[in-house]
Amino acid sequence: MIYFDNAATTKPLDESIKALNAALLSFGNPSSLHKLGLDAEQLVNKARMQIASSIGALGDEIYFTSGATEADNTAIFGAARTLGKRKRKIVTTSVEHPAVSQPCRILEEQGFEIVRISPREDGFHADDIVGAVDDNTCLVTCMLCNNETGTILPISDAFKRIKKKYPTTLTHCDMVQGYLKLSVKAKSLHADMISLSGHKVHAPKGIGALYVRKGVHISPLLYGGGQERGFRSGTESVPLISAFGAAVEQLSKNTDERFDHVKQLSSYLRERVLELDGGGVNSPADGSPYVNSISIAHLRSEVMLHFLESKGICVSSGSACSKGKKSSVLSELHIRDEIADSTLRVSFSHENTIDEIDILIDALKEAQGTLIEVK
Ligand code: PLP
Repeated sequence: MIYFDNAATTKPLDESIKALNAALLSFGNPSSLHKLGLDAEQLVNKARMQIASSIGALGDEIYFTSGATEADNTAIFGAARTLGKRKRKIVTTSVEHPAVSQPCRILEEQGFEIVRISPREDGFHADDIVGAVDDNTCLVTCMLCNNETGTILPISDAFKRIKKKYPTTLTHCDMVQGYLKLSVKAKSLHADMISLSGHKVHAPKGIGALYVRKGVHISPLLYGGGQERGFRSGTESVPLISAFGAAVEQLSKNTDERFDHVKQLSSYLRERVLELDGGGVNSPADGSPYVNSISIAHLRSEVMLHFLESKGICVSSGSACSKGKKSSVLSELHIRDEIADSTLRVSFSHENTIDEIDILIDALKEAQGTLIEVK
């Protein structure tokens, strides 16, 4: 099998599975005061430090969640509940993942003003994001890297200027698709909050984290036993947390080498796609090489996807979360409807190879000769 759907999820690393199994056997509750409990607490704290150091944060600034969806919801609803009595505006972008766009939509129904910044023809401009913020803005929430095209947004620049002009406005970044791929640290991002997901970085599903900068206080989403220093109640999933920490530690070691390898893959893929009759690349040249949006004119995405699947090649027709539904994100990114209908997302991990791309291109050529064209 050839797996090119790493923006949807990734294969857990051996080190991560090993840590998961070890923590399953050492099964204490981190809140218990006996030895098994303390062992479990140590595993959680070790992972907390592994995640913290991967983004240049302090251990106290990391809160474990069930994934990035929970981290995004916590940041957005938390900011709205904490500051939203006086500040009723949220600035975001028109290309966010539903884990951000849906909480914003719900707050809009509750009377918040949501300003969604769209990209210009040449991409996002920090000026547009900064210009939308005013004294009434409680939160600016923007992704770093788009999950459908790999477009990188000018968040560091925008957040830096926003924090300087409006220090009490909170900045939140959904960093899921950039984490351990682009070399970004919490400080250089000027984010008060950052969402991370384990299963996008070769850890299992069901674990993520929210970074909350020291000194920032927002209301929790979950109340109960007061775990995670009162910010996220619920017994910690020690095995998943341990597995997340182990994957992050492993991937923190050689980020640049992996980036260079994936950059090579991406350049090669883009070159080869353009050789195809009607082949096009939708992703910007300066986007993340990990996420590549391509299209083959006149062939429908789903038809191509199933043809490739029959050849043992896994790709996505867009964002996996949209399950084949038409993506408004692609049209926001100025990709015409007929092209969007013929789009595939090829998303890499460091384990992919040039040979696998050759097999994909051969399969696409075969698809062009076999499949019925769309009008
Ligand atoms: N944000 C982005 C940009 C994503 O790509 C995803 C997953 O596809 C999420 C958030 C949600 O992450 P999780 O599956 O950990 O809830």
